[in-house]
Amino acid sequence: MNSTTSLATQLRKSIDDSVNRLAAAVDKQRGSEEMRRYLDVMARFPMYSWRNACLISLQRPQASLVAGFSHWKRLGRRVRKGEKAVRIISPCPVRKAADEEEERVRMYFKAACVFDVSQTEGKGLPTAEVPEIRADTKGLLAALANVAAKRGITVRYRPMEEGTFGVSRGGEVEIATGHSTGQQSKSLVHELAHEAMHRRLIASDAYGIGRRTAELEAEAVAYVVCRHFDLDVELRASRYIALWGGEGKALAASLGRISDAARRLIEDMKGLGPCAGGAATCRTGLGTATSVPTLATGRHRTCPASS
Ligand SMILES: [Zn+2]
Repeated sequence: MNSTTSLATQLRKSIDDSVNRLAAAVDKQRGSEEMRRYLDVMARFPMYSWRNACLISLQRPQASLVAGFSHWKRLGRRVRKGEKAVRIISPCPVRKAADEEEERVRMYFKAACVFDVSQTEGKGLPTAEVPEIRADTKGLLAALANVAAKRGITVRYRPMEEGTFGVSRGGEVEIATGHSTGQQSKSLVHELAHEAMHRRLIASDAYGIGRRTAELEAEAVAYVVCRHFDLDVELRASRYIALWGGEGKALAASLGRISDAARRLIEDMKGLGPCAGGAATCRTGLGTATSVPTLATGRHRTCPASS
């Protein structure tokens, strides 16, 4: 085996080890009391179709947790007086007896009213904290920006609403300002992973399809790449994936895709240099950081709960 093959094998093994380690961390998070309480309540919220998700997004772009009047009541919360409902389309099956032996079901649709959590008050909902990364990794961030430029992806930095750290919209990535370069590095890998793996979904606006898997894959790639450069994001990544309903076996199912995307990112950074100028020390020594590419501007579409 020559040295190039040996390095490639080592990298693959290291990536596989990282994914296995992350899978164990995600399952540990899912087993915690705090996460169980949170996931239990979240699991009871309705999953909306892509069409309804669009209707909600159009009428209330900042909506994060949406349910009907009676659902909020069951959770011990009430809709505040004067709040304007978000209108969605609700299926309404009607059973009709065609003859004595056969019963037919006809599907009708009716308008239904839902409300965002911000329009309600009452009993608190369980929360699960996803800690922010506090580390200085200027060199890593610069190298990732170089990779984005090399791939023809525009990166822009701007302030974002609380809880949103990055946005990917196919050919453009936005990263939230006001956070450590460690957090921004992790977010940039996450968004670059979306660009590489889910661009077709983003471009076709069908991002809602398989969103859980898309988030799991992007965050796992971020974890693997950050770990490769000794930036510890394990707690954040494992909690983020658990919050999206991901689990260890789902990571194993996506191992090939995660591994390929992470390896390509790490290899693209060779020669561009992630190591200088920040706290991140790369494990394989990829050289010295070069200049940060010019950051162009561009419009973005909000990608909720982006990491
Ligand atoms: Zn994402």
